[in-house]
Amino acid sequence: MGESSGITFRVIGGGQEVGANCFQITVNGQSILLDCGTHPKKEGLAALPRFSLLEKPPKVLMLSHAHVDHCGAIPYLTRMYPGVRAFATLPTVRIMDRMLHNSVAVMGTIAKERGITEYPLYEHRDVNFAMRRVMGYDFGVSFLLPLATPVEACFHPAGHVLGSASILLKINGHNFLYTSDICGVDQELMGRHAPFAGMPAIDTLVIESTHGATDESRILPFRQEAERLGEAISKVIACGGSVLVPTFALGRTQEILNIIARLQEEGQVPAVPVYTSGLGRAIYELYDRFTEYLAPGARLRPLEQFGRIGNVWEARVVQRLLAHPSILVATSGMMLANTPSAMIAREMVREKRHGIFFVGYLDSETLGYALCTAPPGTPLQFGLNQPPVKVALENIQRFSFSAHAPRTTLKELVETINPRNVIYVHGDPAAITWMKTAGSNGRRAWTPEIGHEVALES
Ligand SMILES: [Zn+2]
Ligand SMILES: [Zn+2]
Repeated sequence: MGESSGITFRVIGGGQEVGANCFQITVNGQSILLDCGTHPKKEGLAALPRFSLLEKPPKVLMLSHAHVDHCGAIPYLTRMYPGVRAFATLPTVRIMDRMLHNSVAVMGTIAKERGITEYPLYEHRDVNFAMRRVMGYDFGVSFLLPLATPVEACFHPAGHVLGSASILLKINGHNFLYTSDICGVDQELMGRHAPFAGMPAIDTLVIESTHGATDESRILPFRQEAERLGEAISKVIACGGSVLVPTFALGRTQEILNIIARLQEEGQVPAVPVYTSGLGRAIYELYDRFTEYLAPGARLRPLEQFGRIGNVWEARVVQRLLAHPSILVATSGMMLANTPSAMIAREMVREKRHGIFFVGYLDSETLGYALCTAPPGTPLQFGLNQPPVKVALENIQRFSFSAHAPRTTLKELVETINPRNVIYVHGDPAAITWMKTAGSNGRRAWTPEIGHEVALES
């Protein structure tokens, strides 16, 4: 139960897991939600945050960025609680609009093909309503939230993807910082996070723990990894093959396209055509619209430089693309079945001359992971209700371009910010445990699961 006075923090989703991120702060009986995502590994209603824990309608929703594990459940929430007011950075508002409408389409397809009757969880009209409840602010601008108790909010650059923010709340003299997803290195387009530039002393820090269980030596410097990818691509092209790079639509697609473009300009990768698809292109347009949010000196190439992949559900379209050496950058990053990257891979894996290079996180239950680990000749199913295809292709590699900070950076961040309270979220149990053990250093520290409540002032 939330106390009538004091400040409490409760996990509605995303505690001890990388899931449907949603955290509730209650102050004088009124509540603020931080993020409202869907769980990437769950389906139907189970993918939502545990909204049944909300005892009364939340007043305010603060959004850190537009990845669906942070924003995918907003239209469901605003349909349940139409009075909630939401706030995000200006680019995030525009990106969310595209991501959420895309989610409606994806859920509709899954509903049809797999008979999941709970899908879609919301319709296009729910997305339109939700977007009318969201207001955009720039980084570094303080504004008052519409609550009885004065709470001042401010977004700070998190360096993760376009528009991504850490959120600072000043609640009755208690300074609260939610890092959300942060990146500690300069990427090709995004500059590293700066969440504590000009920041007051922090009482409570809520910090992501994605890489808490990842040894730093496994995360290579961004530039070095870009060169390694370039070399691998060049080898394939030299042998007359094509390369597929499966990518997430928001962030990785835009970063990888510009890495490849730079390597081609520098002569490190042959100047073959580069193609990309659907949602990644739509979000690229927003990167182009908000270039002032990219790292100083970042060079975003014109989208027209990259060809359209076309209708990948027609095998002939893919075969035509593969007839000449080319580079294809397509969603989804983990190659979920029946997505553009899976449909392209279905044709590629029949031959040995090509290469498939994964550049992001791969869950062990995905087609992408199976493709990386299965012995040659294993039959795999790339589309729903389609016969499996025997994998002849051997050149399948993984590269690590994380947009999340390594654990030593996270640990240093806790030390630099030096909060009284620290709460670890957004990581699997092993990651969260490492963070708490290595990073807390005598502070009050919590690793709450879904439903757990923490009293911040005591
Ligand atoms: Zn993210
Ligand atoms: Zn996340």
